[in-house]
Amino acid sequence: MLVDGYGREVDYLRVSVTERCNFRCQYCMPEKPFSWVPKENLLSYEDLFKFIKVAIDEGVKKVRITGGEPLLREGLDNFVRMISEYKDDIDLALTTNAYLLPGSAQKLADAGLKRINVSLDSLIPEVAHKIAQKDVLSTVLKGIQAADDAGLKIKVNCVPMQGINDSELCDLLEFCKQKNYPIRFIEFMENDHADSSAKGYDSIQIQNILKAKYKFEKLERTGSSPSQDYKTDDGYVFGIIEPHKDDFCATCNRIRLTASGVLIPCLYFEDSQSIKEAIQNNEIDKAAAILKDVLANKPEKNKWSEDSTVSARAFYETGG
Ligand code: SAM
Ligand code: SF4
Repeated sequence: MLVDGYGREVDYLRVSVTERCNFRCQYCMPEKPFSWVPKENLLSYEDLFKFIKVAIDEGVKKVRITGGEPLLREGLDNFVRMISEYKDDIDLALTTNAYLLPGSAQKLADAGLKRINVSLDSLIPEVAHKIAQKDVLSTVLKGIQAADDAGLKIKVNCVPMQGINDSELCDLLEFCKQKNYPIRFIEFMENDHADSSAKGYDSIQIQNILKAKYKFEKLERTGSSPSQDYKTDDGYVFGIIEPHKDDFCATCNRIRLTASGVLIPCLYFEDSQSIKEAIQNNEIDKAAAILKDVLANKPEKNKWSEDSTVSARAFYETGG
């Protein structure tokens, strides 16, 4: 079992396979970065898998593949298969913008993927275009349907942004409720890489918007999910991820690996250590020792709860 310096059991590894993306979401990567990590500096799937095996052997039970946009990296279904064949009861999930799912959902499901989280910030084509800076909505909706048809469990992530998609939160909730997909509204986390004019909403403001149409009650927090869940009076459960309260840090169970082999103990902070050399040299014990050292130094909580703090971390690098 992996335990951090605050006694929290860490059993969830998020693995970014690329920082590249085919969208330019205003809250994440509004412009193409000055330079991408050169392809030769990325860990191969074989090397990422070597580290995932270390983590699973040490007690990780859930692996989520993310990015950037993970479906941009060729051969993702083979990577999924490597992990699912190593441990078939692993909770294996993917976070994606859904744009490339129409052609890949079935292959991913066949390879052993169980669940996906998709980003869906708007149901109005022009608004979705404004957020992603590309005409994406119809393909994204086809991608979500393809995942559903392939039997993947679906959750939806939405980042409410002031003056952009705020008039649609009830419609987004209704869409997900009809489809029986849990939706989680994520408070915008301020970061240096987002559009400087981007402004989000806090949980209370999001609840107030939803109260115009829905009656709901707060549910007691269980497990390690960062989501504070709410139940509507007709039984639909949705969530709000509230990093500005940092409540979920007390039960944080996650660690992140970037595509270039950097282990990140907290989404907010820049602290990290690389496992790249150890993995490429097949020094498996050394990689396990670095993992434990990173966990021993995992911060107690993020700093978004402090007024006007902005993280220097790029979401497209850490995988969110
Ligand atoms: N490209 C995939 C996607 O969009 O789902 C996976 C990577 S993306 C970085 C993972 C998650 O981070 C998405 O749900 C996205 O909405 C969220 N995210 C990105 N930037 C964020 C920000 N500044 N605040 C809150 N959530 C953010
Ligand atoms: Fe790309 Fe996802 Fe970031 Fe949007 S949130 S720019 S889809 S990585």
